[in-house]
Amino acid sequence: MPEPTLTPARRLPMTAAHARHALISIPDLRDVLSGQVITPDDAAYDRARAIFYGGFDQRPAVIVRPTDAAEVATVVSLARETGLELAVRSGGHSLAGHSVTDGGIVLDLSAMRALDIDPQQRTAWAQTGLTAGEYTTRAHAYGLATGFGDTGSVGIGGITLGGGIGYLVRKHGLTIDNLLAAEVVTAGGQLLRVDDQTHPDLFWAIRGGGGNFGVATRFQFRLHPVDTIVGGMLVLPATPEVIGGFIALADAAPEELSTIANVMPAPPLPFLAAEHHGRLVIMATLAYAGDTGAGERAVAPFRKLATPLADLVKPMPYPEIYPPEEPEGEGFHPTGVLRTMFLDALDRDATEAIVEHLQASTAPIAVAQLRVLGGATARVPAEATAFAHRASRLMVNVAALYERLEDAQVQQAWVDRFAAALQDGDAPAYVNFLGDEGPARIRAAYPGPTWERLAAIKARYDPTNLFHRNQNIPPTKGASDGEVSEET
Ligand SMILES: Cc1cc2nc3c(=O)[nH]c(=O)nc-3n(C[C@H](O)[C@H](O)[C@H](O)COP(=O)(O)OP(=O)(O)OC[C@H]3O[C@@H](n4cnc5c(N)ncnc54)[C@H](O)[C@@H]3O)c2cc1C
Repeated sequence: MPEPTLTPARRLPMTAAHARHALISIPDLRDVLSGQVITPDDAAYDRARAIFYGGFDQRPAVIVRPTDAAEVATVVSLARETGLELAVRSGGHSLAGHSVTDGGIVLDLSAMRALDIDPQQRTAWAQTGLTAGEYTTRAHAYGLATGFGDTGSVGIGGITLGGGIGYLVRKHGLTIDNLLAAEVVTAGGQLLRVDDQTHPDLFWAIRGGGGNFGVATRFQFRLHPVDTIVGGMLVLPATPEVIGGFIALADAAPEELSTIANVMPAPPLPFLAAEHHGRLVIMATLAYAGDTGAGERAVAPFRKLATPLADLVKPMPYPEIYPPEEPEGEGFHPTGVLRTMFLDALDRDATEAIVEHLQASTAPIAVAQLRVLGGATARVPAEATAFAHRASRLMVNVAALYERLEDAQVQQAWVDRFAAALQDGDAPAYVNFLGDEGPARIRAAYPGPTWERLAAIKARYDPTNLFHRNQNIPPTKGASDGEVSEET
């Protein structure tokens, strides 16, 4: 591929070094940026292009790791001026492979990990290269937390922009319900501060609308006192009765308690007796964010649903809810198919279907993940943010991980059949759990009025759809009202 050249955008916050380069090529980026610039001839290239999920073998022209918002703006302008596809990466956990691109530019935020915590105000400014786990550990030093998801290595960039459903979801809402402000580099290279007073339309859109509107370089979050929780894993045998009972208890539980239940054949985990390996179980993680005694009382009924096969639920420091990660870039890059849906309930037919489909699976790992919502999430009006599925009681994700690419079709068919058995027609979707599933599924993440408003805001902030390597919301045609006024 010929080396692209670019003219830096006129409205960038340019440094003297930027200004010296009226026309630069990708290799010249090394002179302009202090962050890493990785090209195919670098030894670090293969590791740098890899993302969490396997099965994505794209070869970007360059991977850039900016160190501040001005460098982010330079990279955005490089993409705009060259026409090279831009992929934005925070933690690299996109299920659709959106954080890598073939022949384009990867803007990898992982070098931007500053976290400024104000313990008095209980707020934090976080650069978007942080992972959920790192943020949680550092905030815990003050006995404070913001809720993200169930996995520490997920980037705060992707999870926040899509909503954020995790262990504090019932007590403190989605991650976006705790987002107070953000700094965003737009397609035009402007750095905007957005909150409910400044660019309120953009602030609305980035709370659920994903990476469509710009590159978020910093988020300001609200923190909550969450120090010791009653939490951990409870493993129960999975029968239709126990699954139904679990969901009923989780729904009726005090909202301090959030649960994530993975129904799956038991993996050979060291804390599970060998005779249970391969048996269908509920591997549930419980998290009670409140008084320890009340937490013990809240989890007690779950222990009585059936004789637990393992019970690791105990008072623990909140960050321990995230098990230690493998060293960065090592080992596990699963390949899989997944279907996400919001449901109002799981009746007896549905819990039977869960057991039947999982028992029939031929995948090395097959799972139905059940997350009861409600609580603080449901109290936010549906139209307040771009995440509109507030009234849904339950999120269900069904997934199969597999090792051989030739198994993709069989596993996709299994996921399709399984999902069809659980939903009545096309259920709404959670954007952060969408794979590369096409426009109709993206629409399923956004009910009509939400979609229309997002498309109009997209037309205003990104009329040429520069940010399209995402769960894309194309700009409404002819809706752009020109330049976005600059406020940083
Ligand atoms: C193992 C695993 C567990 C998960 N658990 C949960 C969970 O419990 N709860 C939950 O809500 N979700 C969960 N998710 C889904 C997760 O929220 C999404 O995959 C999310 O997009 C990942 O964010 P990331 O920054 O790591 O990914 P990336 O691949 O880096 O980013 C995904 C997309 O987000 C956009 N993006 C990322 N950062 C920025 C930024 N700073 N500015 C603009 N756009 C950006 C880009 O469009 C990018 O393509 C999980 C995913 C995985 C793989």
